[in-house]
Amino acid sequence: ADRMTGIIRDLLALSRLEETDEIGRGAPIDVTAITAMLKKDVLARASHPKDVRVRADAEVQLVGDEAEIHSALSNLVDNAAKYTPPEGAIEMRWWADADGGHFSVTDTGIGIPAEHLPRLTERFYRVDAGRSRATGGSGLGLAIVKHVLQRHGGELSIESTLGAGSTFTAHFPPHRVARVRAQSSAAV
Ligand code: ATP
Ligand code: MG
Repeated sequence: ADRMTGIIRDLLALSRLEETDEIGRGAPIDVTAITAMLKKDVLARASHPKDVRVRADAEVQLVGDEAEIHSALSNLVDNAAKYTPPEGAIEMRWWADADGGHFSVTDTGIGIPAEHLPRLTERFYRVDAGRSRATGGSGLGLAIVKHVLQRHGGELSIESTLGAGSTFTAHFPPHRVARVRAQSSAAV
């Protein structure tokens, strides 16, 4: 029943996201604060990679819809935590350069065979049903991520090596980046 509820919630979220194209400007989002929350979420899991790191530039904010961005980044971090063994590591990064803003999650987990990469963001797509059933996934997370990024003019890139780990990076265009004076240390 919990799983069914999760699938229905995700499908509703997806259909809402599909109703409109790129959203208007939105508000500046403190991505560094979100990474701190996501790190806590990982450490609160019953089982999680023991090494969880964050490198975030607190002076860089993202202009958009906070609830959508939180959900997208959370999906990426949730996957990294799910598909990485307890002795492994995950690292979140948030930074900006001339190309825009970038949020990446690197893990030392099970990795993904190259032939699956192009189809990974399709709804209900899972690399193999066996590995996902053990972790309760339905294959909707990355479809949601893809739509949220599209609505912010962004895109997802995926690099992975089977058995070694993966890096998922969300790229946002320069007009979605705002620079602020950091209030506190960038290290989380
Ligand atoms: P849901 O997110 O709906 O709970 P899910 O995590 O299985 O389920 P997606 O987030 O869409 O679905 O991911 C699709 C598939 O991509 C996963 O089932 C898994 O096989 C693979 N995958 C995603 N992220 C990773 C990762 N960091 N390492 C290894 N495999 C991954
Ligand atoms: Mg997922």
